[in-house]
Formats: sequence, C-alpha cells, structure tokens
Amino acid sequence: MNLQLTDDQLMLRDTAERLFRTEASADRVRAAEHTHGIDEALWKQIVDLGFHAVRVKEERGGLDMPLLDVALIAEAQGRCVAPIPYCEAIAANRLLGLLDSDQAREWSEKTLAGELVSIVPSPIAGDPVLVPWAATARAALALDGNRVVLVEGLAGPAPKNLAGAGHRLCQLSGDNAEGQMTVLASGERAAQLFRASIAEWQLLNAAALSGLARQGLKLAADYACEREQFGRLIGGYQGIAHPLADALAAVEGSQLLVWQAIWSIARQNTDAAATVAMAHWWAARSAARACATALHTFGGYGVSLEYDIQLYYRRAKAWALLAGDTQSMLDQVGERLWAGAATSLPDVGEMPLDFSLGDSAREMAEEVRAFFETHLTDELRARAHHSVDGYDEGFSRQLCAAGLRYPHWPREYGGREATPFEMAALNEVFEDYGWERITGPVTNQVAFSLMEFARPEVKEEVLGRFGRGDALACLGFSEPSSGSDIYAAKTRAVRDGDDWIINGQKIFTTAGNLASYIYLLTRTNPDVPKHKGLTIFIVPMDLPGIEIQPVYTLQDERTNITYLENVRVPDKYRLGDVDGGLAVMLKTMEMEHGGADQYRLNFYSMLANAVDWAQRTTRGGQCVIDNADSRRRLAEVAVHHEVAKVLCYRSLWASYHKVPNRSHFGPASKLFTTESYLQGAHALMDLAAPWSLFEDRHGAGHIELGYRQAIGTTIYGGTSEIMRSLVAEHGLGLPKSRS
Ligand SMILES: Cc1cc2nc3c(=O)[nH]c(=O)nc-3n(C[C@H](O)[C@H](O)[C@H](O)COP(=O)(O)OP(=O)(O)OC[C@H]3O[C@@H](n4cnc5c(N)ncnc54)[C@H](O)[C@@H]3O)c2cc1C
Repeated sequence: MNLQLTDDQLMLRDTAERLFRTEASADRVRAAEHTHGIDEALWKQIVDLGFHAVRVKEERGGLDMPLLDVALIAEAQGRCVAPIPYCEAIAANRLLGLLDSDQAREWSEKTLAGELVSIVPSPIAGDPVLVPWAATARAALALDGNRVVLVEGLAGPAPKNLAGAGHRLCQLSGDNAEGQMTVLASGERAAQLFRASIAEWQLLNAAALSGLARQGLKLAADYACEREQFGRLIGGYQGIAHPLADALAAVEGSQLLVWQAIWSIARQNTDAAATVAMAHWWAARSAARACATALHTFGGYGVSLEYDIQLYYRRAKAWALLAGDTQSMLDQVGERLWAGAATSLPDVGEMPLDFSLGDSAREMAEEVRAFFETHLTDELRARAHHSVDGYDEGFSRQLCAAGLRYPHWPREYGGREATPFEMAALNEVFEDYGWERITGPVTNQVAFSLMEFARPEVKEEVLGRFGRGDALACLGFSEPSSGSDIYAAKTRAVRDGDDWIINGQKIFTTAGNLASYIYLLTRTNPDVPKHKGLTIFIVPMDLPGIEIQPVYTLQDERTNITYLENVRVPDKYRLGDVDGGLAVMLKTMEMEHGGADQYRLNFYSMLANAVDWAQRTTRGGQCVIDNADSRRRLAEVAVHHEVAKVLCYRSLWASYHKVPNRSHFGPASKLFTTESYLQGAHALMDLAAPWSLFEDRHGAGHIELGYRQAIGTTIYGGTSEIMRSLVAEHGLGLPKSRS
C-alpha cells in the first residue's frame, strides 16, 4: 500500500493551488457569474501554462500526464471554485487528440491554441441535453449512437443554474436538432473513446467536487473559530462541530475514492468501471451535504451573497448535475457490479499510489487460510462464534505455535514483525471463517503496552504466556460512572509497602471471564486534576478479591462486570510511573483509535451476504438483484463500504509510516465505518424483509446480526460522539468540547 503522492505531484498541486488562489479570488469568481461563469483572463493563463493540454497525447502536442496528476489540478480548481471549464476542456481535448480524422486533428490544434471545446457527459438520445459551457464554448463533443460529433452554434435555454455558468439545454439530435454538426469519427472504437473520456470527466469532476467541499469545510471551521455566541466560540458547540466532523470524513473519503478509482483502472481491476461511478456519486453526495453543513455554520450570513460559502454551496450541486440525475450513477454502480455492464475506461498513465494490501499481505492470507483449512476441525467450525464465546484455547495455542496469533510482534518477543497490511489480510481470513477477532487484538494491544512499560520479569511472565497462547488479557478502563470520560476513573489503588491495594469496579470487561490478566486503569491520587492522578497496572485475574459477573448484550455476546475488593497487587505489575497512567494510556488508546478495519470487516460480511441473498432470492418471479430499485439500494451500501475501506486503509498506512497530521485519520475511519455499517444494516434489513428477520436465509440472517452488531460498534472503542469531537479538533482545528 502506498498513499504518498510523489514530490513532483506535490509540487504540481502546490503550483496549481497557488495559481488558483491568486487568479481565482472570490471577487473574480463573483465577477464571472456575469460573464457566463467563465473568467477569460484565467482561461488564457491556463492555456499559456499548457494546463489545458496536460492530458493530450504528446504526438498531438500535449503532455500526456497521468490522470492522477490532472485530478490534483482539478482538486485545486475546486478548492477555489475557479471559474473555468477545466474538467470539460481536459476531457474534450484528450478525446480530440485520440481521434484520427482530419476534422478531429484540426479541432485538436484549435483547442491547443486555446479554443474552448466542451463535452456532453450524457448520451444524446432525442431529448434536449445539458451542454456544459455552451454559452462560451466554440463547440461541444457528444456521442450520437456510435458517432462522435462536434456541434457548433450551440443555442438553447439557459437553466437558472446555481453557479452562473453558461450551460445550455440543447437539442442535439432528431428533426429539431440545433447547431451545425460535424461527425468526427464513427464506429465502436470511436464510441469507446468517447465513453472513456466521459469516465475521465467523471473522475475529474469528482476530484474538483472533493476539493470544493474540503475548502467549504475549511471556511466553516475558520468561521467557527472566530464567531462567538452565548459567550463561546460556536466551534465549541457540538451541534456545530459534529456535523462538520461527519462531513470531513465523507469528503476525505471522496478524495481517496477518486484516487482509488484511478488506481483500479491502472491495475485493470474487474471492478474498475464500478469504482468510477462510485467515486462520482459519492463526490456529488458528500460535496452537496458538506457545503450545506458548512453554510449552516455561518447562520444567516451564510446565505448572504457577501459571504463566500454560498459560492461553494451553489456549485457543489451545479457541478455534479452536469451529468444529470446523480442517482443514475448509483444505477451504474449496481449494473457494473452485479449485472455485467461494462464501459470503456481511459488510459490513466502512471499510478504511483497503491490501494492494495500488497504481495506480502496476500502471502500472509494464503498462509492463514491454509492453516484454517488444516486445523479448523468440523467441531471447531460448528462452534465458531463472532463473540469471545468463539474463543478456543487449543486453537489459539496452535495459532501461536504457527506464528499466526501475534505475527506483528517484534522478533525479540517471538513475532515476525508483520506489517499492519499483513495483519489486515490475516483478519480478513479470520472473518471469512467466522472466527472471533476480539481476544487476539485486545491481548495484543495490552502486549504492546507491556513491551514499552513493563519491568523485565513481568514482560517475561506475561508476554511469555500471551505468546504461547496460555493467557489472554482484558481491558479494565470503563467503570459504571465513567465510560467515555475514562480518565474520571474512580477505582482506587493505594500503596501498601511493596504492594498496592485496589478497590473498585470495572464494567464491560470483555473477555474478563477468559482472561488471566486485566489491564487496569486506577486512580492513585484523587487530589490532583483527573488526568494527573492515574496509574496503570497489569493485574493477574487470579488474585484474591477479584470477582467477575456476566453482562449479556443484544449482539449475542457476553461481556462482564469486574469487582475488585482489597486486591493486593505487587508493585512489579505497575506499568509506567505512579500517577503517570495518562502517558501509558495514550499509547494504548492510539492503537485503539488507530483505525477501524476490524469493524469494516463486519460491515463487508454483511454486505457480501446481502448480495448473496439478493442473487439467490426471487420476488414476483424476478431475482432480487435484477430489480433496478433493489440493486440501487445495494449499490448505495456498497459505496459506503468502499468509502469506509479507503478511510481505514489510509489510517493503517498513515500510522505505519508515521505520516504527520494524522491524528484524526483513525477517529474518522471509525466514525465513518461504524455509522455507515449501522445505516447500511438498516437499509439492508428493509430490503431483505421479511427474510432479514429470520435466522438464516441465503445469508439474510447475517444482515440481522449486522443490525444488532452495528449499533454496538458505534459505542465501544470510543463512541461516535467522541470520534466526532476528535475529528473536529484534530482535523478541523475546532476548540475542544470536553475537559
Ligand atoms: C459490547 C461492549 C464491549 C465493551 N468492551 C469494553 C472493554 O473490554 N473494556 C472497557 O474498558 N470498556 C469496554 N466497553 C465500554 C465502552 O468503551 C463504553 O461503553 C463506551 O466508552 C461508552 O461509555 P458508556 O457506556 O459509559 O457511555 P457514556 O460515556 O455514558 O455515554 C452515553 C452517551 O453520551 C454520549 N457522550 C458521552 N460523553 C460525551 C461528550 N463529551 N460529548 C458528547 N456526547 C457524549 C455518548 O456518546 C453516548 O451516546 C464495552 C462496551 C460494550 C457495549
């Protein structure tokens, strides 16, 4: 996996951003609304710099830049809502450079010299179509059956559009056709080239929308950090901060989805065509919603023309609608994923990014799969369970012996330093086999803390037992009166000679009934601010005074309440300094907030089972998956899952490479993944009713399990509200709303 843009790409993006920041100020954007939406001087500059010809083949006088590079320019254009038809011109110019006819060559030369030719993103089939920039373009390219045509003299009613741009509704075919039409090329190859150009336009348009939305959120965040109401900055109100946090996760997902679609095309992945439609639909949806949230942040000023945010709000919708009803994109997603529909895709050129887990991860997955095939007996398969009830000590020992329980541990502790990508692949296999994925990660989280903070004899004792599969750990953070506010813990640890006496209660100690150690957050000093008087211990669960009682949840699982009464714990089990628990906790929480791929895998299983159900179930004599409405509903869930996946992968990648400014990546991935999982579960329950109410019917039972599981994922590991606060603070720079 590699999500790092190259130095050249970063430089290109900076150059484009500088250009648009200086030459597409808000004043010029406003002024362009009176000149059919275009700033001619800016367009001339774009031409002088050759930015309009970056995707034209070299032999036709262009630079033939990779599509990702050009998407970065489009993103920069979007950030400033720069008033030029950049995406349309890029797609049209490239297409003209790929067509062989004399007329195409002639027009290609004209466009290189700065003549503006637009492109019509929807096929023309009798009805009038919206021609982007018809008021200023010399001509527009369109697909008429199998003919690529160029239409001049474009005229037609101007929609009362939201961005002041000179689009026109034009009749391009049939008896009433307007304008002068020239056929540039015809036949299947010509049509394919046109369709590929439309896919290219969709990706560029999506990139521009993601840049636009990101800047809209920045304007809102800046305003929320200066505007006071009721004596406080409004950014400190969660009613303002939290919707902005949701929007940020969605918009960052949109940028990543565009990049991933380009990567999919470069890799010739089978789902590449679907990912293009996904990227466009999601960009349209997330940008419109983000800009509405951003505008709302400004209160009444937001709708006033003097404020810039309205420029973004209007374009967020208008740019996306150039291709017509955005729901048709969802139809395309469904048709391409499950109905065998295909489309031509552009040659995207070099792609340095890599959204795959990589070869070594694939090898890890194969090794784990082979292990499961060999060692998972029928008896074990029968008792597999998603909760800790599925834990099997014998199987866990076998996994340890094979180096597959904690493979990412450092070698000195018996691990093989597997990367997070290899671990993600391993977890996918566990999920495939329905094998529980709770006890391993929790014990692992504790183990890494021990490696850093425990004394040598404790490391030897505890890590040795973990590593052989002889012991598990559970997490003792939450208390009956402190959940989200974990640092308000009251469980008291008092020094007594070489020992500590601990009294208190911990709630939701998952796997406490199986664990040999509890990773315990205690209060050692009640007289200092709450964060300062905490100390962490790793406490053997067999010490006298510890009692466990079960707590059962709606998701078929057991968690526990743990009582500690006068538990005498030797000081050697203390981790870190006395009253220094915060530093130890921060490390542990970083792992917990490091990403949400474990929840994403649950989401994926639910979706895959829903698709399986839809492919095997008929309604009214028709297979559910063949019904356009059902397919669209499934497609919407699939897009959400894809956004969750890229956010989770970004988080994995960023924490592995210690990428700067990544603090909000983990919380954003958890927030988006778990909330989308929940929303998807609701949608799929409805779709699959009444079968979704039954234990199992071609996988529909998994949807019901997802419905019960998803709500829990929005709570444990930090609730969605806590994640929103973290995203708002670290991703948008808003004030803290918690003490
Ligand atoms: C199945 C399950 C397993 C768990 N496993 C473990 C475990 O192994 N170890 C462990 O220590 N804990 C565990 N937990 C506990 C979990 O981490 C807490 O439930 C969670 O942190 C929320 O705490 P709470 O339940 O006390 O709710 P509260 O913190 O009381 O929250 C109640 C509501 O108020 C909201 N809220 C709270 N504070 C704020 C705020 N500042 N701003 C806005 N809204 C706020 C919350 O988002 C929530 O909606 C588990 C929980 C569950 C359900």
